[in-house]
Amino acid sequence: MKIICIGRNYADHAKELNNPVPKQPLVFMKPSSALLVNNKPLYYPEFTKDLHYEAEIVLKICKNGKAVQPQFAKKYYKEIALGIDFTARDIQARCKEKGHPWEIAKAFDGSAALSNFISIENVKREAIEFQLKKNDEVVQHGNTKDLIFSFDTLIAYVSKYFKLQMGDYIFTGTPAGVGPLKIGDQLEGLINLNVKEDNWKSMITCNIR
Ligand code: ZN
Repeated sequence: MKIICIGRNYADHAKELNNPVPKQPLVFMKPSSALLVNNKPLYYPEFTKDLHYEAEIVLKICKNGKAVQPQFAKKYYKEIALGIDFTARDIQARCKEKGHPWEIAKAFDGSAALSNFISIENVKREAIEFQLKKNDEVVQHGNTKDLIFSFDTLIAYVSKYFKLQMGDYIFTGTPAGVGPLKIGDQLEGLINLNVKEDNWKSMITCNIR
């Protein structure tokens, strides 16, 4: 199983970190040891002083595929989850400055928090809303209509380089509002599958210890 992540996939988030809006998806990976499931807490890593949250919609790959054509991409994922891409922003900044790979800032143990999955068959994939609350206050609010690269485009792009295998995950990028965490903070991620109906479902909680 692999965890594929997409960076800078919402223009408002690229801007808030002073990054250019990409012309192609920005791809990185996390190992399976990064997974944090069952609403387990995250222990604040000792190597960072600037741990950030990034709430993201996560796709679960349900079919093996290589070089998938965009028109068939929909067949490769039928369920989504709410994930949190935890990032050591200070270490990431140092890596970026030197042009180094950023795994130590992005792929550490517990850096990929993941909720249970829900079906999106019969759901409009371009109109899924999600939120992250920190200590009961909404800090991020995303809508998949604002994705720079759609889910289908990501499937087609990523599968050119990496064979997609059943059970792989794709973290599809975070909207604006990322920010720092401290010990004691409580995160809750929610999804609303039908923007018109305002039917928020709590997907994940994660406490920082
Ligand atoms: Zn991210």
